[in-house]
Amino acid sequence: MLPGPIYIYECPNCGNLLQKFSFISGNTFGAKMYSDGKCIAPMLPKRLILTKCKKCNNIFWLNKLKEIGTVEFDDYKNPMRKNADLIESLKIDGCFKAIDTGIAENEQEEFFIRQLIWRLYNDRVRKGENQFIGVDDEIMWRENCYKLISLLDSADLDQRIMIAELKRNSGDFDGCLEILKTIDDNRLNWIKEELIHECKIKNKNVIKLD
Ligand SMILES: [Zn+2]
Repeated sequence: MLPGPIYIYECPNCGNLLQKFSFISGNTFGAKMYSDGKCIAPMLPKRLILTKCKKCNNIFWLNKLKEIGTVEFDDYKNPMRKNADLIESLKIDGCFKAIDTGIAENEQEEFFIRQLIWRLYNDRVRKGENQFIGVDDEIMWRENCYKLISLLDSADLDQRIMIAELKRNSGDFDGCLEILKTIDDNRLNWIKEELIHECKIKNKNVIKLD
């Protein structure tokens, strides 16, 4: 990846400076696709639009802020850069907090955060860890899955296959298969076949799509 300029932002709550690296090129070489739609591409920069200020803990949409300045990536002595925290991605608790504080102003934004929560739980499985750290954690996860399904539009095939996958994750294999039966699309049939296979072997976990 070739580095581009560093963008400097200001926390809308306390004015703390934040810096975000950018890249002028990248590719999908070595990318892995997963059944929750997450694509891990080592040669592509991570898309980060929801973040938290390290100083005041305020959570905000980075894409709604205008950068206050840019710094060349090799300008190490720039004072703005020296004073700026690196932006970070939210963890599961931060995402739930973001929803509680009403940061989602519409269904699309709520969908973005809930999908992120779903994928963060799946990241634990991808890393070989336990998916849940306790009963309450699992209850929060399940509620998030239900709410995510309610935000999806089954008339759209991409969203419909995501509903099927959420049902499989929740252990509702019959429900997943019912939905998969209604999908016949050249672009999605190979994913459908993989999910049918996972239902047959009663696997609830996120899978890598080959
Ligand atoms: Zn702040």
